[in-house]
Amino acid sequence: MDKGLPPAIFVAGASALDFLNSIATPVDEVVEWIGDGADFLSWMKQAGLLSDDEIKTIRQNMTASQLNAVAKDARTLRDWFRRFVRENMGRPLKRRVLEHLSPLNRILGSDAVFWQIEPSGTFQCQGENEPSLSTIFHLRRRRHWRKPASLLSPLAEEIAKFISSADFKHIKACEGGKCTLLFLDQSNRLARRWCSMAICGNRAKAAAFAARSKRTKRRARKMRSTGK
Ligand SMILES: [Zn+2]
Repeated sequence: MDKGLPPAIFVAGASALDFLNSIATPVDEVVEWIGDGADFLSWMKQAGLLSDDEIKTIRQNMTASQLNAVAKDARTLRDWFRRFVRENMGRPLKRRVLEHLSPLNRILGSDAVFWQIEPSGTFQCQGENEPSLSTIFHLRRRRHWRKPASLLSPLAEEIAKFISSADFKHIKACEGGKCTLLFLDQSNRLARRWCSMAICGNRAKAAAFAARSKRTKRRARKMRSTGK
């Protein structure tokens, strides 16, 4: 069912933080992108974590209520990861955080992946007499999607990759007044302040401009009234 959710927001520069941003206040109202099973699948697809074929398999193997239940588990995982990020952002990670990572390691430990060799493209090559088409094969990792809980695995994987590669010193919260979005600052000067110019940067610029022109007008009025 289409509930008219806006497209999800992917501005964090890291899937794991985009997952935290799957609940946000882009304008005035809170938008929850993983409110139920169907929304959850839609968000996972937008995030590039599930393909259409995988979603088809998942819908064949799981009931709507199972999907709703796993969406709830995903929100719990998101709450846990948000706490972890909030507690550790702005400085390098220390070894002692490992004791807080057991919920993540539990999900990672239950992951069941398998490997398949698949064609991924073709290229032209020069045969003896005429050009012929050659196929490129790729080794791809896949999941069976038999159990609802397996839907948490791609999220746990992204979170684990993030924790093991990102510099927590550079995780920032957008400076926009009501904005709750987080991002990884990967700019050259590490001076990024906004989730995006479109959402908060322009709003802040407009507010600063309005404040500036109000001040200028007030000064002009004062100068006129004092005759300076
Ligand atoms: Zn923002």
